[in-house]
Amino acid sequence: MFNEIDIPCPECGHENSQRVAWVKANDELPCEQCGSAIALEDEKHLLVIEQATANIAKLRRSLAKFRNYSTGATRKRR
Ligand SMILES: [Zn+2]
Repeated sequence: MFNEIDIPCPECGHENSQRVAWVKANDELPCEQCGSAIALEDEKHLLVIEQATANIAKLRRSLAKFRNYSTGATRKRR
């Protein structure tokens, strides 16, 4: 599975698709369009947030399942 993120260039606005693993391993990315170096420090923070959000999404899904299950059980009791 190749996770990719789009890193918008602050100079020209071009969105550079790059592998998450690459971004984690590098400090700056040369823009595909204008060639200016994009600092990846901010992107790394975003990656952490993105991963946390993905985890929260998973958690929400399992909570939703749990809720459906428990409301179903409550209805059966009445
Ligand atoms: Zn650029």
